[in-house]
Amino acid sequence: MHYIGVDLGGTNIAAGIVGDKGKILFKSSVKTPQRASPEEVASEIAELCFETVARAGLQIEDIAALGAGIPGSVRPNEGVVERCVNLGFMEVPFAALLEERIGKPVKLVNDANAAALAEYASGAGCGCESMVMLTLGTGIGGGIVINNRLYSGINHAAGEIGHFVILHGGEECKCGRRGCFEAYASATALKRLTREKMRQYPHSLMWNIAGSLELAGARTAFEAAEQNDKAAAEVIRNYTEYLASGITSIVNIFQPEILCIGGGLSGEGEKLLRPVREILDREDFARNNKKRTRLVTAMLGNDAGIIGAALLPLYDN
Ligand SMILES: [Zn+2]
Repeated sequence: MHYIGVDLGGTNIAAGIVGDKGKILFKSSVKTPQRASPEEVASEIAELCFETVARAGLQIEDIAALGAGIPGSVRPNEGVVERCVNLGFMEVPFAALLEERIGKPVKLVNDANAAALAEYASGAGCGCESMVMLTLGTGIGGGIVINNRLYSGINHAAGEIGHFVILHGGEECKCGRRGCFEAYASATALKRLTREKMRQYPHSLMWNIAGSLELAGARTAFEAAEQNDKAAAEVIRNYTEYLASGITSIVNIFQPEILCIGGGLSGEGEKLLRPVREILDREDFARNNKKRTRLVTAMLGNDAGIIGAALLPLYDN
């Protein structure tokens, strides 16, 4: 049987036909209609799905169900998008709107949870029992999968791994607290640390690499550190310490078999993971055990959203 996974973003909508082992057979995307009503967005998704099914050489009868990853909070059991700032959705019965148009059962999931499920089912966590995923992006998204189930807690609000405090009274976070993990270990936070250091060191290579303060990004310091820039190395060291501080706490709480890091920064691979692992080896509560949490980078990249949404009916609570 085949499933459709939809990754609904603020800029693009991607849809893919996925087999029950999590392999994408065919995918396509369209621009997200701007300032559109939920009905209009649902119609756009339905059209994209029918077109994707046809282009994959399949019939709609070959599709068992559809899952949609939403960049906001959802109530999966009711099929309701609670709040999605990017799309301007509040309390929208979006699963029903999609079902009316596509004629298949529809499940909704938060997009970070979808990515976690995908890595668990067919990516970096394939075959493991428990996995925690962190996506380092504008913020920090996350997902907790234990024994084939996404852990979502009451209100389906669990897995907000970016919002525990690592520095009491620290930087303001967009959730309203201060000192959250996200405010120190997201890609946005790394950008902030980079710019602070650039201001301090006007001769740092980071200036040549970025071109200007405004253009400095999350990878600027990594590039400059490669070329032995001391200020950049300091940025990476500070950032790594914050990241490792949060990761060690997550490992202590969950002792997951796999801790998977996704998002653009995970492209740095071992350059990012090795120093975090060194700290984890010193501070992990279970550091003397033979079995340890494995820290790995995500494998599925941008496809994770589509795959996780598609597999949702197979991992339904
Ligand atoms: Zn926060």
